[in-house]
Amino acid sequence: MSIQNMQAMVFTQPGTPLQLKTLPVPVPAAGQVLIKVIACGVCRTDLHILDGDLPPVLLPVIPGHEIVGEVVELGEGVTLLKQGDKVGVPWLAHTCGHCKYCMQGQENLCENALFTGYSVNGGYAEYTVAWEAFCLTLPAVYDNAAGAPMLCAGLIGFRSWRMMNEHAQHIGMYGFGAAAHILTQIATFQYKSVYAFTKPGDGAGQQFALEMGATWAGSSLEAPPVKLDAAIIFAPDGSLVPIALSHLDKGGTVVCGGIHMSGIPGFPYSMLWEERVIKSVANLTREDATLFFGIAPLVPVTTSTQLFPLHQANEALENLRAGNIKGAAVLVMP
Ligand SMILES: [Zn+2]
Ligand SMILES: [Zn+2]
Repeated sequence: MSIQNMQAMVFTQPGTPLQLKTLPVPVPAAGQVLIKVIACGVCRTDLHILDGDLPPVLLPVIPGHEIVGEVVELGEGVTLLKQGDKVGVPWLAHTCGHCKYCMQGQENLCENALFTGYSVNGGYAEYTVAWEAFCLTLPAVYDNAAGAPMLCAGLIGFRSWRMMNEHAQHIGMYGFGAAAHILTQIATFQYKSVYAFTKPGDGAGQQFALEMGATWAGSSLEAPPVKLDAAIIFAPDGSLVPIALSHLDKGGTVVCGGIHMSGIPGFPYSMLWEERVIKSVANLTREDATLFFGIAPLVPVTTSTQLFPLHQANEALENLRAGNIKGAAVLVMP
């Protein structure tokens, strides 16, 4: 490599802002590729890492797990990718391939999994390395900043989508951010109806949901006009679980789509009875990605993004925290 150094935004300690640092460009190990980052999405999980809601596993670490980039160098033994390939790097960075979960097709639950931007360095940097087996081939329409939110908001959203009864027709979404704005397009494509719930008073969020194709939008304190067959909760607020459950029809599912949520208040068994289900979603599998990137260009899913230069990662995160991002925040490299 002719380039020796790179700029990166580094997480050093919970509760403190990211620091802009000049670091050596990483060297790809066997099975890895070096990637020149084009764009990296900013996810709520990054806030949970920064706030210490998720215990640190690697410090310092470069966050970012919605990476769109170009392969610029191959590590030893790399055969699937070549220089110039555009790839996506998601949250699931590596799995062991031999634990009971890997053996039964649940690599998202791997006992020894590594996660991008958490247990290994991620994409808030000009360069990163990734295992080629976990790099995702992106349809050409997504090999740019607009594709970044597809890699977590899209993928985890889609895994949440797969947790519903496939016959679900009326689908509630609590928290109308990056994931919900992508899923609403898939719902419309499949002739399903979306009922969007936002924080009370978030008229702009409700308007955005209607623009994206939601049938109805209101506050999380309101009842939808119909019983829901499923409700997906993206907001990290456990008090929404019994609220969503109270709007479910028989046999319906509440899917908790986030990695972290505040405590869930108690509720009477009668609310769960009649085969209602509460499920969580953990991580993603490569199969989710194959299915998602199969359907997304057919819809075609488009993303609403707000771009920030790399060095303004802290501003992007604070805007996400404050609910000021319409769609998804994405960092673009200098
Ligand atoms: Zn495993
Ligand atoms: Zn994420």
